[in-house]
Amino acid sequence: NKITIAIDGFSSTGKSTVAKQLAKHLGYIYVDSGAMYRAVTWFAMQNGFINESQFYIQDLISNLKKVSISFKFNINLGFAEVYLNGQNIEKQIRTLEVSRYVSQVAEISEVRELLVKQQQNMGENKGIVMDGRDIGTVVFPDAELKIFMTASANTRAKRRFDELINKGEKVSYSEVLKNVQERDYIDSHREDSPLVKAHDAIEIDNSNLTLQEQFNNILQLVEN
Ligand code: C5P
Repeated sequence: NKITIAIDGFSSTGKSTVAKQLAKHLGYIYVDSGAMYRAVTWFAMQNGFINESQFYIQDLISNLKKVSISFKFNINLGFAEVYLNGQNIEKQIRTLEVSRYVSQVAEISEVRELLVKQQQNMGENKGIVMDGRDIGTVVFPDAELKIFMTASANTRAKRRFDELINKGEKVSYSEVLKNVQERDYIDSHREDSPLVKAHDAIEIDNSNLTLQEQFNNILQLVEN
């Protein structure tokens, strides 16, 4: 029997890595909800609604109907890439620049309302792993399995830093750490759907766990 799996937690806790692996193993669909908030942020940057740290929130809200986000499975990568209005923007949304603005875009209620609805539609059929910040609390409050991932800020910043460097971005460790901490703060203090552990979520601190150990732990929970 297929179930719904919600994986939430702070930035760069390695949610998506383990979620992808899990979905592949179970033959489930994997949805990266953060990619959708990043896609809206990219849209806002492209259209001048975010400009030199100025936010034109009302303009963004009134143009949200022009945002069409989709996922398309890339067989070579083994996961679904995100598209905005038909354009593959998987690379563009992973930059530190998008990371700088995304949590402020994710505070906008109209944005959340739109994306949560789309996420719920994607989860209509069981057999889905979705990761994010509000999946177990808001998107799928009835999910059969909820995981809340944590790790120290340093561990997380180190992982994100290595990832960005590997992609050839010129960033410093301190600015990555600052970004991780700022997003954590905004995500857990916003008015609309703040990041909190669902009361029935199982917390996994993966600071000292290998990917294989995390995967095994979660798989055991799925099988029980
Ligand atoms: O998961 P990722 O780090 O790519 O998410 C980027 C940002 O999108 C988060 O820092 C958060 O502000 C926002 N987000 C959210 N709700 C989700 C997923 C992501 O607010 N379900």
